[in-house]
Amino acid sequence: MKKILITRKLIKESEEKAIKTFDPILNTNDELYSQSKVIEMSQGCDGILSSLTEKLDKEIIDKLPDSVKIISNFAVGFGNIDLEAAKKKGIVVTNTPEVLSDATAEIGILLILGACRRAAEGIDSAKEGGWKWSADYLIGKQLTGTRLGILGMGRIGQKIARIAKSLGMIIHYHNRSKLSEDKEQGGIYHDNIKSLFSVSDVLSICCPATKETENMINKETVEYFPKGAVITNVARGDIIDDEALIDALSRRKIYAAGLDVYKNEPNLNPGYLKIKTAFILPHLGSATKDTRIAMANLAIDNIDEFFKTGNCKNNVN
Ligand code: NAP
Repeated sequence: MKKILITRKLIKESEEKAIKTFDPILNTNDELYSQSKVIEMSQGCDGILSSLTEKLDKEIIDKLPDSVKIISNFAVGFGNIDLEAAKKKGIVVTNTPEVLSDATAEIGILLILGACRRAAEGIDSAKEGGWKWSADYLIGKQLTGTRLGILGMGRIGQKIARIAKSLGMIIHYHNRSKLSEDKEQGGIYHDNIKSLFSVSDVLSICCPATKETENMINKETVEYFPKGAVITNVARGDIIDDEALIDALSRRKIYAAGLDVYKNEPNLNPGYLKIKTAFILPHLGSATKDTRIAMANLAIDNIDEFFKTGNCKNNVN
């Protein structure tokens, strides 16, 4: 049986599946492993089932034992892994696409609703008590008839588009390549971000974190938006330059933000805590039981498929 290091505690059903499939090293205390601990724990292992809380950069990949042939990431995003360094060392990297798209799209919609309808302020007021209803109390932005820009209209972006359309939003999107008509669902394509941002009353960020997308929301690009736009991010924190967004929120160029992901999680930029219109969640995108089990099962199946066939359909490098 292949020996696999599973870096984080999984839901019970998934750990049972792992035990049936290979000889796993489980993290029963769900300790956050340091980079040196990952190297130490992976000695003699054939593979690693990693999660987004481990930064597997070139330095750590180069130090992994030669016996490690696969890193199966428990996420669809793989910005935590240096794909090139893994490839050079002959390590296959896999991810868990599709199974988390519904759950993440739900959180994407929650961010849009929460930011537009001032949910953060509403929750604070309801808990504090003493609030008084009036005709102009906590007036928010209605979604019906509002333009939604989707940056990264892939699996999750398309699901968000479908739900947002049913709420009466008008869909615009930018990808590097235009989608086929059925995937566009009537959405209007923009071949550059300036064009997309300039028509986005609300933006939903759904693209991966890459060198190209890092800090795509920055001092210059926040100015492309209509005044009072709303920016939401269900993808990865690296796509936003926090200082630029916090500044735009402070001067009301950007009306509100809805964020699930951050640079340096869980230590988000404290500037967000001072912004009343920031609706912030602690990386809940895929956090439903069914989805987490499906993700873990797929991460396990990816390893199994790789060792049985020498290949894996979810190989990303
Ligand atoms: P996907 O199907 O690969 O979609 C990504 C989309 O982004 C594609 O349409 C792609 O189109 C576009 N894109 C890639 N690079 C781009 C660039 N440089 N400029 C503009 N568009 C670009 O991925 P997915 O399954 O929807 O997941 C998207 C991301 O969501 C993941 O990478 C992950 O980081 C994040 N995520 C977060 C959570 C959470 O818990 N909050 C959960 C799941 C996923 P082109 O290739 O044509 O450009």
